[in-house]
Amino acid sequence: MKSIQSTFVVILVIFCQTAIAWGPTGHRVVGYVAQQHLTKKASKRVNKILQLYSLEMCGNHMDFIRSDKNYRHMNSWHYVSIPDGLHYDESDKNPKGDVISTIEQIMIELKTKEFTVFESEEFAIMALVHMVGDIHQPLHVGLSEDRGGNKIKVEWFGEKTNLHRVWDTDMIDHLKLSYRELGDHINRDVTPTQVADWQGSSVKEWAAESQKLRSACYDFGDKKNLGYSYSFRHTKTIQLRLEQAGVRLAGLLNEIYG
Ligand SMILES: [Zn+2]
Repeated sequence: MKSIQSTFVVILVIFCQTAIAWGPTGHRVVGYVAQQHLTKKASKRVNKILQLYSLEMCGNHMDFIRSDKNYRHMNSWHYVSIPDGLHYDESDKNPKGDVISTIEQIMIELKTKEFTVFESEEFAIMALVHMVGDIHQPLHVGLSEDRGGNKIKVEWFGEKTNLHRVWDTDMIDHLKLSYRELGDHINRDVTPTQVADWQGSSVKEWAAESQKLRSACYDFGDKKNLGYSYSFRHTKTIQLRLEQAGVRLAGLLNEIYG
């Protein structure tokens, strides 16, 4: 019990230091939405491979293992830094990998069934659920100078936080919805045309969309206490990005297992 408690403390400390991904609810929403868009065959096959968690619950695994030194080399896989005005192809690449190269690598391994970077098919699927979520969070395609907004200290309804965390977690938690309630809400009127459009774009295009959206995240000027007004302006973007992530994740899984 003691070791479980200390592991939990380590995880909490890490979360407090640097926000690193959609919070737990965001990743669950992505898995839940994806589940609604899987073919019957893909759903059966994917859920048979996943032993540890369901598709809805497995998206947070990549964050749970971050406190383990064996997985630290994966830290840069959650994001990509691209300067303003540059396309990914023109920017300097992180030699340790980034969220774009990681998604592409996972897809290669899932297609070839040769798991060299990832330990197993199950682990590769769990990583895919997480990374497809992360790449849709605008500040995960961030600026290196402020570490995707992690260095921008702000308050959220008077509580100390940072801009990255506001987008990962604070705005979503403020909705006070379960991941299923939020997933049903955002999935309710997506059209077949949108699904086809979203699934027809490339991983680099998803990153370019986030990059385009990120400048709006900084629209609070000198006002550092963010709340209702900020949430009103941006909640729709968060909901759209979670929906797109879920639909596109389903597209990738259908491609392999459908
Ligand atoms: Zn992440």
